[in-house]
Amino acid sequence: MPRRLIALFGVALLSCISACTTCPPPEHCTKKLPEQSTPPASPKLQTLLTAAITDEYTYDKLGELCDTIGPRLTGSPGMKNAIKWSKQSMIDAGFDSVWTEPVTVPYWTRGKEWARCTAPLEFDLILSSMGLSDGTGPEGIEAEILAVRNFEELEARSSEAEGKIVLFNPPWEGYGKTVQYRVHGASVAARLGAVAVLIRSVTGTSLGAPHTGMMEYADDAPRIPIAALTVEDAGRLFRMSQRGLKPVVKLYMEATNHGETTSYNVIGDIRGTEKPEEIVLLGGHLDSWDVGTCAQDDGAGVALSLGAARLILKQDLRPLRTIRVVHFTCEEMGGHGGRAYLDAHRFELDQHILALESDAGSYPPLGFSVEADSTVVAYIDELAAPLAQVVTGSWKVRAGGSGVDVGPIVRSGVPGVGHWVDNPHYFDVHHSLADTFEKIDPDVLSRNVAVIAGLIYSVANDPVSLRSLIISPADGGH
Ligand SMILES: [Zn+2]
Repeated sequence: MPRRLIALFGVALLSCISACTTCPPPEHCTKKLPEQSTPPASPKLQTLLTAAITDEYTYDKLGELCDTIGPRLTGSPGMKNAIKWSKQSMIDAGFDSVWTEPVTVPYWTRGKEWARCTAPLEFDLILSSMGLSDGTGPEGIEAEILAVRNFEELEARSSEAEGKIVLFNPPWEGYGKTVQYRVHGASVAARLGAVAVLIRSVTGTSLGAPHTGMMEYADDAPRIPIAALTVEDAGRLFRMSQRGLKPVVKLYMEATNHGETTSYNVIGDIRGTEKPEEIVLLGGHLDSWDVGTCAQDDGAGVALSLGAARLILKQDLRPLRTIRVVHFTCEEMGGHGGRAYLDAHRFELDQHILALESDAGSYPPLGFSVEADSTVVAYIDELAAPLAQVVTGSWKVRAGGSGVDVGPIVRSGVPGVGHWVDNPHYFDVHHSLADTFEKIDPDVLSRNVAVIAGLIYSVANDPVSLRSLIISPADGGH
């Protein structure tokens, strides 16, 4: 590395942040951090980290978004209100310029939906239509269940699928693997003559809430409705089938695709003092599903990016480069906001120094995953090292993915950073009624404000441009 930031900054100013969250304000705190290897922060960075830990703005704004606006399905009145809220919040926070950019998005509505097992005994089922699914029509669909664990089992029993409602009841094997049934299940079953698809909700733990999420229709398959059942209901129907009971289910779904509409990315700049044309971007997605109030996915990323940038400004730490907050639209239904941002900003893409996304919820911070040249990983690792003092557990910068929204500009050469958190229970609430503000721990949220504000400030204020360090965009970033 050509130079080391830490060496510029002199004396260690250890705070008591990670040692005592309940002690008096830091200036009165007598506790010291335990002996550790965390490198010291510069005085200005230390000021920022200390302020972040006691700042209540981000928690308050996230509560406001969740409780007074609620869910933010793209194209819905809730999302329109959220766009106004985001814009006004950036203006109120003192951003230098705030604007919106139009994005063409799919417009889908859920409408009413219900399901009932009608034979061999009657009981109600709890379901949630998949986003972008077609509905059942006004008469609904009633058919016998063909219950399978996975695609392979359906293939082996393909001769039985005609006229049935296929139920996929796969075990939870992590989001990336299990989500395939939600995304592709309808078309796979439709090719075999199935009339509808139900899936076990894509979650590892359930307390009776179904989990929604986006599906896709393949061009070569009939379009049949698809919905998620709770883990409990899917399991019961599956076990009934194993006992040879041949359950019959009636489905009613008003889900409708209305074509396209216009939504907006919300963008706010805090202008840099010496290199205003160079941009350090951070953000999350403002849209959400229409269940719960979507605190973790991704109210947290929206509030964290807003709160971190605003804190830098409030502490009078305006950096050399411009800090840009982007609240993306329509991540959930296909990542349209991120692609639109790329299209609108190609002209200044080489001025984007870094793009950070927070879209994994507000859970204890673990570090950052860096999607870029290995030199950038090392650079972020060194710059982020002082942030370990605000973390209660382990801390690491690793090579890895950044985020769906920044993905298009990252794949076009902008170094990407993902906010990495310890979230084994994220998918318990993800895309369900349970994703609400109660799930947000204010102490954890403030630590996340600290690490995000700390990294963004450090990159935006570094005399050396991160992009000047890049050797090769394909050098091991993944
Ligand atoms: Zn998300």
